[in-house]
Amino acid sequence: MKFDIEADWSLNLLCNYDCEYCFARSSTEHHLVGRMSPEELLDFFDSTGKTWMLHLTGGEPFFYPGFVYLCRTLTSRHYVSLNSNLSSGRVREFAAEIDPARVQFVHCGVHVEERDRRNGWRNLWTNVACLVEGGFPLYASLVMTPAAFDDFPRVEEAFAALGVPLIPKAIRGAYEGRRYPQAYTEAERTKFRRFSEQAGLVAKTGTCQPDWESITINPMLDRDYLDGVPDFTGIPCSAGRLFVSIGYDGRIFRCGAKTELGNIFERRLHLFPDDRPCNDEHCPYFCLRYSSFQKDAAANYPCQDEPGALRQTLVTIRGIRRELGNRIAAFSQPERP
Ligand code: SF4
Ligand code: SF4
Repeated sequence: MKFDIEADWSLNLLCNYDCEYCFARSSTEHHLVGRMSPEELLDFFDSTGKTWMLHLTGGEPFFYPGFVYLCRTLTSRHYVSLNSNLSSGRVREFAAEIDPARVQFVHCGVHVEERDRRNGWRNLWTNVACLVEGGFPLYASLVMTPAAFDDFPRVEEAFAALGVPLIPKAIRGAYEGRRYPQAYTEAERTKFRRFSEQAGLVAKTGTCQPDWESITINPMLDRDYLDGVPDFTGIPCSAGRLFVSIGYDGRIFRCGAKTELGNIFERRLHLFPDDRPCNDEHCPYFCLRYSSFQKDAAANYPCQDEPGALRQTLVTIRGIRRELGNRIAAFSQPERP
């Protein structure tokens, strides 16, 4: 796949799941989502004169209005990759209508607790089988909360039977009052690495796999950063030139929220002409790909002190809200005889 620029595009906020560690979901959609038609969006990307790799995430992107039609329109000239919980029936429509040659990968977030709560397993296996049969490069990941270490083997087995690797994904930031990934115990780290290496083996023989060297979102990298994510500050980076992030409100940033480069709704984009030192904080997968960080010399770089302070605050607020909800629900339960 030959493209000129990659975008991490948060299409929407709405999600049917409510994962405890999530910092990017809402039970109502943002009012600006869907404001431009797929044709207008395609016209914007075409007007840049570049071929784009659009990483579509959310919220849950399958709840974006007319998502499959949007993908069909965008993939007429550009490429997409997806991050989804694959719970929606529209996944089958996607598998039937989209050309897999225009899809770099589909990344399925498993989220065991929410999937159990919402009876979502049967739908997941149907959707995964449809994507595999359709020839879409596919992998799955599981966010490794302490409880997930027990769940991992049985979920991994079911995915492996379909030729899909399940990759452990490290928590980054605050979770249940502890700071991750530093809070993983030695036993958890050992299991994490084993699970990740196992996923690597399935990926080698799996039915339909992405080109692992060229994809940006690769949770198999997590096993190398269990002591923390490097601080990229000051390292030359091509974000802003070869990569941007796009928000559901149409704003286009270099990567995090510090440097705005344009706005889709205003049909405006001014890319950097050259690489510039890192001055922001973004998803480390993009930092590892687009900065000139040297993995071989990782020990020379300090770890980020408090990665994603804003995200951590959101997760903490959501945790408190959920806990309060649980307590109120428990309080209002009638007493058992
Ligand atoms: S499925 Fe994804 S977007 Fe939805 S709540 Fe979970 S982590 Fe957030
Ligand atoms: S290293 Fe990461 S945070 Fe820094 S500029 Fe590059 S993409 Fe942005």
